[in-house]
Amino acid sequence: MPKIVIIGAGIVGCSLADELTERGYCDVVVIEKGKLWKPGGSTSHAPGVVFQTNGSRTMAQFARQTVEKLYNLRHGGERCFLKVGSLEIATTPERLADLHRRSGLAIAAGINGRVISTEEALKMHPLLARDKLLGALYVPDDGIARALLADEVMGERSISRGARFIAECEVLAIDQSDGRVIGVRTTQGSFPADIVVSCAGIWGPKIGAMVGMSKAIQPLAHQLCYTMSMPELASCTGEAELPVLRHQGSDLYFRQKGQSLAVGWYGHRPLPVNAEEILPCELAGVMPSQLPFTTEEWKGAMERASEVIPALKCKEIAESMNGLFSFTVDNFPLMGEWSGLKGFWVAEAVWITHAGGVARAMAEWIIDGHPSLAVHECDVNRFDPHQLGPLHIEERGAQNYVEVYDLLHPLQPMESPRPLRTTGFYQRQQELGGFFLEASGYERPQWYEANAALLDQYRSPNRDEWSSKFWSPIIGAESCAVRDGVGLFDITTLKRTEVTGKGALEFLERFTTGNLRKKPGSITYCLMLNERAGILSDITVMRRGEQDFFVGVNSNTDINYLKREAPNTVHVQDITAGTVGLGLFGPRSRELAQSLTRDDLSNEALSYFRLKNTYLGHVPVMLCRLSYVGELGYEIYTTADLALKLWDTLWQAGKKYGLIAAGRGAFNSMRLEKGYRSYGTDMNSEHNPYEAGLSFAVRKGGGFNGAAAFNEINPNALTRRLVCLVLENPQHVVLGKEPVLHQGKAVGYVTSAYFGHTIGRQLAYAWVPEALSAQGTGVSIRYFDRDYPATVGQDPQYDPQMKRLRS
Ligand SMILES: Cc1cc2nc3c(=O)[nH]c(=O)nc-3n(C[C@H](O)[C@H](O)[C@H](O)COP(=O)(O)OP(=O)(O)OC[C@H]3O[C@@H](n4cnc5c(N)ncnc54)[C@H](O)[C@@H]3O)c2cc1C
Repeated sequence: MPKIVIIGAGIVGCSLADELTERGYCDVVVIEKGKLWKPGGSTSHAPGVVFQTNGSRTMAQFARQTVEKLYNLRHGGERCFLKVGSLEIATTPERLADLHRRSGLAIAAGINGRVISTEEALKMHPLLARDKLLGALYVPDDGIARALLADEVMGERSISRGARFIAECEVLAIDQSDGRVIGVRTTQGSFPADIVVSCAGIWGPKIGAMVGMSKAIQPLAHQLCYTMSMPELASCTGEAELPVLRHQGSDLYFRQKGQSLAVGWYGHRPLPVNAEEILPCELAGVMPSQLPFTTEEWKGAMERASEVIPALKCKEIAESMNGLFSFTVDNFPLMGEWSGLKGFWVAEAVWITHAGGVARAMAEWIIDGHPSLAVHECDVNRFDPHQLGPLHIEERGAQNYVEVYDLLHPLQPMESPRPLRTTGFYQRQQELGGFFLEASGYERPQWYEANAALLDQYRSPNRDEWSSKFWSPIIGAESCAVRDGVGLFDITTLKRTEVTGKGALEFLERFTTGNLRKKPGSITYCLMLNERAGILSDITVMRRGEQDFFVGVNSNTDINYLKREAPNTVHVQDITAGTVGLGLFGPRSRELAQSLTRDDLSNEALSYFRLKNTYLGHVPVMLCRLSYVGELGYEIYTTADLALKLWDTLWQAGKKYGLIAAGRGAFNSMRLEKGYRSYGTDMNSEHNPYEAGLSFAVRKGGGFNGAAAFNEINPNALTRRLVCLVLENPQHVVLGKEPVLHQGKAVGYVTSAYFGHTIGRQLAYAWVPEALSAQGTGVSIRYFDRDYPATVGQDPQYDPQMKRLRS
């Protein structure tokens, strides 16, 4: 049984101690510098408002689990969660429309939510202004977490199972030996540990610095006020009876507390705080995570608030604060074991809303090796180096604070710092009128205005206002032109790693499902599985030599996983930043590539899923015969210094073959027509290869991680499946994450959705129950407030015989 030290007894630390001890992991010490059970961190002053709806399915599940857990937890007979429901209100048509979209997100995640009329909303919350409201999203199971009561119950319960809570004890250092944690040093002496979990909230960066870790967390001050008792609430006798409220259009949220209202305000300028400068308990005024209230930032808050709750006009404030909590560079928490130090785990930047679910996932991760929910978005090892610089953390954290209630399109990229990462192709892409979005910090064209002339030849259906954002009909024209001729795609943002050295083959065989014992020059598409046969990633392994592999992966998390598992003789090296990739795809790609090399590129000499090291003009390249868009073609890799030369070489030669540059929009539409899954969007660690339609990528016979569990699966007894839905009306556009309904009931959710320009139909891949997965089954997809009919179709829709790829 490992010795586990948890730093921090806020909602995250207490929840984790509870989850670990419940599973029999009772050698747990929780070290807290403040007093129990109100130690002075963010949990100690948060109003506990819980809205479960979230654009991330995992975050929504974390919230659901938190509500479930706290609702069933009792402190002296009283529940630790008050299910008063929530209302997100709209005062503009745009916000009302967005509430319909958000109700779809809720339903898709299994959360009960619906858009209601102003009248209904007023019945639930009589203080709302009738003349301002257009409607509201009502979620009956939302409400108020009584976090401090919950901390006490979970803490006491953990103690009764054998855990120890040491209060008024500060962790000063983390002791390490041979690259792993061995304990912590505190103001009350040393505590040995095999595992240390930092649940230090806003102090997270300070604990990180003790082990040389830069954490992508920015503590920020946030304003919250409580009014004096309001006569309008005189009839309220309990702690909270009215639903919690959110008015995102004005950056406000509200909860009733007895006869007063709490008003939270995100409308002020961001107020970043350095974790090192947070005052210790003895010097802090009220508590360390509460800074003095600044009236300057509060200006405008009550005016905006009283627009929707007129009773707030001229109300006096009884209590006010600039409370501190954490934002991250991408709005997701930090979870998991840090790759820089074995045994050092983190669970930070977690709202009370998600704490129960996060703690459960952390306990499963520590004990079983993998959480049951997909946590790739939250993995502490997900960041690129540029995301861990202090300026980036501060700027992105502050911007995410500003945008917390903004109406953001799913494709909306970060606006600053831009441009951040550019390749040698960038200049040419700009000259061609590239419309750039951002991926992993790179500028990546979505389409090229230079291709507008193709619209004379290829037309796409019109779109509604929302789905037209970050979209152009040129995307469709590019897709069709590539299918007819040849296109050049920038694929640099896909991650690449080298795996080399003695034992590299055996290592990869063990950690991937591929049959890799093929001649050097072979390419294998395969998976990495966890012990439960959940898909950790889908990867492409290029065998360059006997013990020399180039592996296309999905994320830094994949690279860290391989690095962590690799034996000493095997070297895993991230080569993404030092290399670039272009996709040359389309029926004329071979002619074009052949015109630039003396090597034979015929189908016999370089067949599908083979690679060749060659030169295109002066540029040394690795030419890989595969394409993610389902056409004859090549992924072409070279070093970053030769990027511009490679682009120009292909561009010059390509004129003769009608080469166009094509953007990510065309790429995604084409890959969906071909049924190619995208990791993280279409499938993740919650799914097994059969369900995801990827069992073909798993070798027979086993010998790889997850093989035992995989072999146990009965492919004829699945409960759900990823299917290809074809919308009946080509004018109906969906974008992804919408709920799938059958006979009016939510039964699944959309993952990726694009218009298939070659087949002329809107496609949506979706998870549905097995019983509804047969071809021809009719369902509907809810897009805002409309239900679009769709049918389970053939998977894939385009070239199922693979004739084009193998041609
Ligand atoms: C004004 C305000 C309103 C909010 N409202 C909501 C809301 O309505 N709903 C919601 O879901 N979230 C809300 N939040 C966010 C929420 O409060 C936090 O995200 C959450 O409480 C964080 O919990 P935690 O356990 O990670 O951190 P904390 O509660 O801060 O706990 C961390 C603990 O670690 C201890 N610690 C740190 N360093 C050391 C060390 N070296 N040695 C020993 N102990 C250490 C600290 O003393 C502290 O007790 C709000 C935040 C603020 C500021």
